[in-house]
Amino acid sequence: MRSQPTMNDSIASGTTSYLSELECSGCGRKFTPDKVHTICPDCQSPLLARYDLTSVRKRVDRDAIRHRQTRLWRWHELLPVKDPRNFVFLGEGDTALLRLPHIGEELGFDNLYLKDESTNPTGSFKARGLAAAVSKARELGIEKVIIPTAGNAGGAMAAYAARAGIKALVYMPRDTPRANIEESHMAGAEVVLVDGLISDAAGMAGEKARAEGWFDLSTFKEPYRVEGKKIMGYELAEAFNWSLPDVIIYPTGGGTGLVGMWKAFAELEALGWSRNTRRPRMVVVQAEGCAPVVKAFEKGARFCDFWINAHTVASGLRVPKSFADALILNDLRESQGTAIAVSDESILEALRKLGRMEGIFPAPEGAATLAALETLSKRKWVRPEERVVLFNTGSGLKYLDQFQEAA
Ligand SMILES: *Cc1c(COP(=O)(O)O)cnc(C)c1O
Ligand SMILES: [Zn+2]
Repeated sequence: MRSQPTMNDSIASGTTSYLSELECSGCGRKFTPDKVHTICPDCQSPLLARYDLTSVRKRVDRDAIRHRQTRLWRWHELLPVKDPRNFVFLGEGDTALLRLPHIGEELGFDNLYLKDESTNPTGSFKARGLAAAVSKARELGIEKVIIPTAGNAGGAMAAYAARAGIKALVYMPRDTPRANIEESHMAGAEVVLVDGLISDAAGMAGEKARAEGWFDLSTFKEPYRVEGKKIMGYELAEAFNWSLPDVIIYPTGGGTGLVGMWKAFAELEALGWSRNTRRPRMVVVQAEGCAPVVKAFEKGARFCDFWINAHTVASGLRVPKSFADALILNDLRESQGTAIAVSDESILEALRKLGRMEGIFPAPEGAATLAALETLSKRKWVRPEERVVLFNTGSGLKYLDQFQEAA
């Protein structure tokens, strides 16, 4: 990590990060980012990173970023890490944006795309968030990190912590896909298997963190995972030549990707980098067996109720209540988007279709976005000429035991 010539190329002549402050998403209180922060001490809402976008706008050439070689970290001015020596890099970012010609033709969509996050380190887009959060943790001198997880976040945290030389402790449900348990072990993390769901794991991890001083990297309980995830929004804008797609369909658990991309689109506007004034309509996809955001959206509620008895083959969507529920619902409505629940049966059917027709073996969470599109298309909520992006958030290879059970 000490010498990364390609990493330093783009930094030699400028500021690494324009991070300026943290802002509470609930009450607006500001914090200086030089210290360790978790959530707002006044109102317990997530904190969001704010950048000096006026200076970025003046000094950074949007089109020059394309020629940098460092994937996620090409966007370092808009990421929170100040010293490049703290970047923990395993190859994350710059995933392929694929057209889906055959499925597109079947459904009558000419501009159907899939952003394939399965090629990230540890096989899911969780790598992006944990790359940013672990890097910033290292910069702040944090020596041990803890996480409750539905699966992929634990594996990603273990990998990045190993790379950073930080101790890792992972709490996950006992019935988490085997790949998640093994990859965490292999990366040297201590793993605690919990009889229950991510919400139970969160309670136990929180207690452990308070008792022993572990830093908690739970979704939205620290400000930086969402910063890594937001880069998906920047990559999309760049791939579409700085005009954004019409619809983004996203499988939502804790909501970092959705909130992150929506944050990216707001930043792009402030930077004057995006061409269209209309932002994409965001679609939250959840499983019928765990759909707290869908239920709250349909009721017009500001928060989600805790979902009792959550179950689905898409383990990443087995999140009974997100800590950032207010943010998710707010962004969803602001985007004039919608929320939709799909059955496990339709998820598995969509998964096979992506394999058979396009050669893609997605995570069930990713397949859920195709199942959702099929329903939205029938309802005429999306029009055939619109540019639609599905998100495949992980690799199907991580779920082999789930498929065996389902078969
Ligand atoms: C965590 C996860 C999700 C949900 O992502 P959030 O950003 O937490 O909403 C979706 N798919 C996969 C494969 C995941 O691991
Ligand atoms: Zn607050």
